[in-house]
Amino acid sequence: MSGARRPMSDPVLPSLRELLAELMRIPGLAGHEERVAAAIARHLDALGLEHRSDRLGNLMTTLPGDPELPSVMVFAHMDQMGLLVRAVEADGRIRLERQGGVPDRALAAQAVVLCTDAGDLPGVLGIKSHHATSPEEKLRVVPYTDLAVDAGFASKAEAEAAGVRIGTPVTYAPRVHELANGRIAGTAIDDRAGCAALLALAEARRGAQGPTLHLVWSVQEEHNLRGVLPAARALGPDIAIAVDLMLACDTPEMASRGDLRLGGGPAMSLFSFHGRGTLNGVIPHPALVRLVESAAGAAGVPLQRSVHVGALTDLSYIQFEGDEGVACIDLGFPVRYSHQATELVDLADIEALVRLLDAALDRITSDLDLVRRA
Ligand SMILES: [Zn+2]
Repeated sequence: MSGARRPMSDPVLPSLRELLAELMRIPGLAGHEERVAAAIARHLDALGLEHRSDRLGNLMTTLPGDPELPSVMVFAHMDQMGLLVRAVEADGRIRLERQGGVPDRALAAQAVVLCTDAGDLPGVLGIKSHHATSPEEKLRVVPYTDLAVDAGFASKAEAEAAGVRIGTPVTYAPRVHELANGRIAGTAIDDRAGCAALLALAEARRGAQGPTLHLVWSVQEEHNLRGVLPAARALGPDIAIAVDLMLACDTPEMASRGDLRLGGGPAMSLFSFHGRGTLNGVIPHPALVRLVESAAGAAGVPLQRSVHVGALTDLSYIQFEGDEGVACIDLGFPVRYSHQATELVDLADIEALVRLLDAALDRITSDLDLVRRA
């Protein structure tokens, strides 16, 4: 960031570390993002940025810029994957349905929170006592359909009186662990780290020259990957940038999947695809790949590269919007242990991602040509 380019102003928001920790601690199952949105909106208010929400719950703000330049939408999803109450048994135990990519083998023995209208209630996904487990059972993954939340209730009537109903959202019990070397582990780093990065970007771009910037905190990514679409249609950007995790491959079990390492800086995706049912993915616009590469050089930020089959973002659907499509690229930060209660990220990667986004926006000039000619 160049101080000469924009008026120097005192920081208004808490640090990125504090923003991330705050957002990680708020349960926000897909379709139930209101509390996350309220927290983000409070920070936008502090920045003096007007914002609005649509019927699905997408939260958006616009920092107006040069109308001659292509407009940019940068977005991150507020929702997290999790579970819903499917039934309450006569003995007060609570059966669950899953929402999004919930890993069965990471669920057993977890602490969870039931988000009732009357408030959050703690519970545990206990499994059979170890002392009574057969050698064969010890190595078996218990599917979520065989698990139940024990929230201490002695009867269905007790659970219902406390506000537990069919449809009550359930997430991992929120947690934040500050680890060595600036690393942070805990709940919903996917994608509260992206949400926090967008707030930091909003603060960094106050008073900046450059393109019109729409920031969107989107909904239901973990549900159906399309919650952001009404926001994209309403804003009609020329360029869209998704900010979400990318899979760190620096642990032995992931080594064959790629090169991304924690602490190695932000990353851009050169290819994503998901075939099972989704049949979508993003091949980024080549002008944006060049833009991000040159921005990384200018900002002194190391830039990692990702090619990945099996995961994708809601950007896949935005690229087809409008009469000419939208020029798209996925940017992100490496994360270990995705969709577990203790996802792990390096704060320095997120800080560098904010600098990269800021530098990329600075480099959007009138000679950036988004049309791909024959
Ligand atoms: Zn995500």
